[in-house]
Amino acid sequence: MSRTPFVAGNWKMFKTVGDAEMFISGLLPLVSSTEGIEVAICVPFTTLGAMVDSTRGSRVQVFAQNMHQEAEGAFTGEVSAPMLSDLDVHGVVLGHSERRELFGETDAALAEKVPAALEAGLRVILCCGETEAERDAGEMETKLRRQVEAGLSQVPAGRLADVVIAYEPIWAIGTGKVATPEQAQEACAFVRGVVAGIDPAAAEAVRIQYGGSVKPENTAELLALPDIDGALVGGASLDPASFAAIVEAGRS
Ligand code: PEP
Repeated sequence: MSRTPFVAGNWKMFKTVGDAEMFISGLLPLVSSTEGIEVAICVPFTTLGAMVDSTRGSRVQVFAQNMHQEAEGAFTGEVSAPMLSDLDVHGVVLGHSERRELFGETDAALAEKVPAALEAGLRVILCCGETEAERDAGEMETKLRRQVEAGLSQVPAGRLADVVIAYEPIWAIGTGKVATPEQAQEACAFVRGVVAGIDPAAAEAVRIQYGGSVKPENTAELLALPDIDGALVGGASLDPASFAAIVEAGRS
């Protein structure tokens, strides 16, 4: 099955509205004629509205970086899926390792967040990945299976393929250490196998991104691998020229 490649930039906690406007006015002309690939930027809550407005009618989708599983309630400081939809946001990244490790995001919460996002009409990138210690201890597969099965556990049948899964080895995030093509392919094939254990047809359709020190120079090699359908890009997505070069390199 041919799967449309999908490259998403994760800005993390970078860029004011002014910085974001400067970025997008640089990016749009660089990617406007790039066919055969989907493109998203995952931006801080404060820049969502401005980025939705500035990208309207373009090929760039705007994603949030987190949300609460409930639609509304007494959850000070939180933002819900219907609130994101109301802003015309396209999707949300869920379960990034920084949220899991620094802010206590749990598999139990993610099991509720993923279907809540889909229900509100948002697209989802669900992240998974192992630490270096887990990889060295031979625990990578157990960890990936647990994270993927939990995140997909309450997704209605027929919606599984709407979830994009990002495999991001934690030891490769922001470190400049990229997984080798063999490591990245092996892990992404394993993730696809976990999805196949739930629904074989969905496994063929589901898109799996690799994330971890993706740069313009290593994108083509990684995205050519059979089970890698895109990239989740941190640092190299902050500059329009570098992000556009990754999009160009990732085209099918
Ligand atoms: C990320 O933030 O998801 C990421 C992969 O970061 P970087 O590309 O900087 O390693």
